[in-house]
Amino acid sequence: MTEEIFQCPNCKKYTLEKFCECGGTTLSPKPAKFSPQDKYGFYRLSYKKKTQAL
Ligand SMILES: [Zn+2]
Repeated sequence: MTEEIFQCPNCKKYTLEKFCECGGTTLSPKPAKFSPQDKYGFYRLSYKKKTQAL
């Protein structure tokens, strides 16, 4: 049994939905193993990629 939790990079809210109520796309905080610096870098990169994809 896997519990998937996502975090919104915009408002930092945790949710089980893939889309936050603020309209942002949530991300799975999987790279929590890495340092906070890496984590933020990952979020920034992912957000940029998603933004460019649109
Ligand atoms: Zn949000």
